[in-house]
Amino acid sequence: MLRIAIQAKGRLNEDTMSLLADAGIDVAQSKRKLVARATGFPIEVLYLRDDDIPQAVHMGVADVGIVGLNEVAERDLALREVMRLGFGACRISLAVPRGVEYHGPAWFNGRCVATSYPHILRSYFDSLAIKADIHEIAGSVEIAPAVGMADGIFDIVSSGGTLIQNGLVEVEQVFHSEAALVANPHLSAEKLAEVEKLKFRFSSIVNSRGFKYVLMNVPSDVVERAVALIGGMRSPTVLPLAAPGWCSLHTVMSEDVLWQKIEALKELGAEGILVLNLENMIP
Ligand code: ATP
Ligand code: MG
Repeated sequence: MLRIAIQAKGRLNEDTMSLLADAGIDVAQSKRKLVARATGFPIEVLYLRDDDIPQAVHMGVADVGIVGLNEVAERDLALREVMRLGFGACRISLAVPRGVEYHGPAWFNGRCVATSYPHILRSYFDSLAIKADIHEIAGSVEIAPAVGMADGIFDIVSSGGTLIQNGLVEVEQVFHSEAALVANPHLSAEKLAEVEKLKFRFSSIVNSRGFKYVLMNVPSDVVERAVALIGGMRSPTVLPLAAPGWCSLHTVMSEDVLWQKIEALKELGAEGILVLNLENMIP
């Protein structure tokens, strides 16, 4: 049986739990238990702090884990990235106080940077031959320049609001992260097969995100124009209706173009348009 490490609470927990639920894996989430059995898939769930997940997977305490790629890169452990999961997106950036004369990464030469990601920052500075002093702190990195602890910071940014509040300007985006399924690189063939099954379930969910299933009735004489308008990679399904002169058209549509296309189809004469959520898309 596989054991998966996931974040016990925090930003990744909710999306992780709903991914598992959508994949048909029901976990009895007892807040006080470290390990829970699941039904619907032979798996045990280990609840950890996100910082500890890469190490737990590396040591084999868990076979796989769901964690931000930032935490994986920072620990620098040999883990296998099985797949990216499309949530928990963020970046780790260098920021400096507003108003300083910043002219590129060389600005950091001889300066001090506060961060919780010293390893990623060290690799970045090394790649540019920049000699800076890296000051590791566990939290509240963004206040370090204001209190005189550092000249700049290297921290997680998602919207940038926290930086603005602290009078900082993002100057270099160094690392882009999202949540990923990672695995211990030395799993048995039996466990690898289970990981592939898990990946298959997760992929069908991740692939279906951003798409809707659309059905509509279209007068037969405009079907060709409707099909051309829908476009895309997948050809729509066209079925005759019992009422003469009408067809039913079924298709999968990307959410980005959904409303624009529906408006155009309505103008063509489409009626009874249904937009349905897609749970899984299996290639
Ligand atoms: P834990 O108690 O598990 O150690 P934490 O406080 O270290 O939690 P969270 O704030 O819950 O961590 O963030 C978990 C992960 O979510 C981050 O490592 C990162 O991959 C991702 N993330 C996405 N957006 C953000 C953001 N704006 N700030 C911080 N992390 C983010
Ligand atoms: Mg953490």
